[in-house]
Amino acid sequence: MTALGPDELRCSAKGCSQRAVVALRWNNPRIHPPERRKTWLACGDHDEQLARFLGAREFLRETDRL
Ligand SMILES: [Zn+2]
Repeated sequence: MTALGPDELRCSAKGCSQRAVVALRWNNPRIHPPERRKTWLACGDHDEQLARFLGAREFLRETDRL
């Protein structure tokens, strides 16, 4: 992670290249061990959309402000 500067923190939403403001930490219990975390970055326009997607599947674990 040390190689990642602020300029590399782009939103994970499809077709979006805005700077991310939140990191959504998620886990799919069917394929990931419980302690594993995947990360989606989201800009201010997509944080709710991505959080809803993960939340509806009960994958969302933590949300970190960047
Ligand atoms: Zn976005």
